Amino acid sequence: MQFLSRRAAVGGVIAAITASAGVARARQAEPTFSPDRFRSHVEFLASDLVEGRSPGTRGYDLAALYVAEQFRGLGLKPAGENGTWYQQVRLQERRFGEGTPALTITGADGKPVRFANADNVLLSPSAEEPATRFDAGVVFVGFGMDDPANGYNDYRGLDVRGKIVVALSGSPKGTPTEIGAHLNNVKSKNAARRGAIGFITLDTDVTEKAFAWAKRTVNATQPRYTWIKADGTPFLSAPGVRGGASLNRPAAEALFAGQRRTLADIRAEADKPGGKPKGFVLKGRVGFDFTSTQRTITSPNVAALLPGSDPALKDEVVLIMGHLDHFGVRPDRIGDQIYNGALDNASGISAVIETARAFVDSGQRPKRSVLFLAVTAEERGLLGSEYFAEYPTVPMANLAGVVNIDMPILTYDFGDIIAYGADSSTLGESVRRAAARIGVTLTPDPQPEQGLFTRSDHYSLVKKGVPSIFLKTGPADNHGEPTGAANDRDFRLNRYHEPTDDLAQSIDWVVGAKFARVNWLIASEIANATDRPRWYEGDFFGNTFAKGAPRAPKPAAAPR
Ligand SMILES: [Zn+2]
Repeated sequence: MQFLSRRAAVGGVIAAITASAGVARARQAEPTFSPDRFRSHVEFLASDLVEGRSPGTRGYDLAALYVAEQFRGLGLKPAGENGTWYQQVRLQERRFGEGTPALTITGADGKPVRFANADNVLLSPSAEEPATRFDAGVVFVGFGMDDPANGYNDYRGLDVRGKIVVALSGSPKGTPTEIGAHLNNVKSKNAARRGAIGFITLDTDVTEKAFAWAKRTVNATQPRYTWIKADGTPFLSAPGVRGGASLNRPAAEALFAGQRRTLADIRAEADKPGGKPKGFVLKGRVGFDFTSTQRTITSPNVAALLPGSDPALKDEVVLIMGHLDHFGVRPDRIGDQIYNGALDNASGISAVIETARAFVDSGQRPKRSVLFLAVTAEERGLLGSEYFAEYPTVPMANLAGVVNIDMPILTYDFGDIIAYGADSSTLGESVRRAAARIGVTLTPDPQPEQGLFTRSDHYSLVKKGVPSIFLKTGPADNHGEPTGAANDRDFRLNRYHEPTDDLAQSIDWVVGAKFARVNWLIASEIANATDRPRWYEGDFFGNTFAKGAPRAPKPAAAPR
């Protein structure tokens, strides 16, 4: 109701101006983007009072209420469950129980070496078992890439039933980035499908550099999470795998001592372009020993719909999303204990809200409907978005395309943006066209080793076959200098997933408003386009997840 009356009023004014001045209606419709409004959402969501927005806490629920009331104030329609703004997501939280979790490696020499959790091994608690104690034989599977249809077949000749699989992290050098990221993500699932009961990862030179061990061990005793299915059981990405571990170099060396090949030899091969160390059965055994406790918490996704205006297209839905959660409060920390998550991802949620506002203020409803979604538990493993993808509040077949916003760096005036997934579907061209309208260019992924295409919420929808992009500010500033690359590096080193990602850092609110504007231009372009977004012919993700869906030819002029 409120939306319609507001739209009618604004639309009337625009119609009058258009009629008298005879100018194009689309130009009149560009709304304003206010730095102060952009700031207001971030200041609230990243306030200490909201306590880091951890799923299942009062702080998160306050943040969710804030977003819902913003949507209400804009006159959007509730698009959660049962006519509410919320989709309640049940999450399972699991922790280690009594005793010291440990991994025992018995190598070729038959002498067991016990590693406690965080001492060169990282374990995770079980979603199902109160006590996990087993040992088994071990099979090395190289990178563990398992997609024979696309030529990845690291399991050839290896039987891993009842065994513990050991795989290198990452993918062979030169693997197309997004394919590598996807196949890396489903390694334990594929091991499970082949009957493995344990899954261990080893670093390569590349992953050791990209993900510092010291930083990984900080979270060694933190709880782990999954979402709970409608039948009440936890969702397991690798059912049947009872134990998982990653090994730092000393533990990996213990496992490979006296084997057919040394670890150094394997890593040297893996570090060559196209290097794919072949798998083999290891001598010795590995044993897991830990206890776990599990509990259920509930945390909402927040969803609002702007109904489309075109009778033929309004059933199609463009999803504009970002994650609302962050890491909460860590009382075990010395000093600042609140993970405010100002850039990760209060700024992204502010962009989602301001994009919604811009649609309303423009006075022109888009042809397609637009769903605005703030999801929970991204930091816990993309759980809120996975839950939404499994139990969508609009029919999945109607979801036309996804724009995800996560952690835009807003500390410099960006001259370009990165859209992960731009090479996969016609959404890339939509982004390029829309951004060009304000002189912003589209830049290819500058950090392919980070595998970012599979590391935020759009990926949950990609797996359901929906063309998606993940938007961030790019490496260049508005003068073409690499300020963005430097600021992104500085952020990742010093504030990413730390309490210092807070309001004390120098966020440029004018740039925030500009980022919201780019988002709105992109969302409008997609929502008003004649054609529904399509995967490109031959695209890996389209082929894997959207078999039979209509395709578009990839433009010859596409980048890379
Ligand atoms: Zn994050």
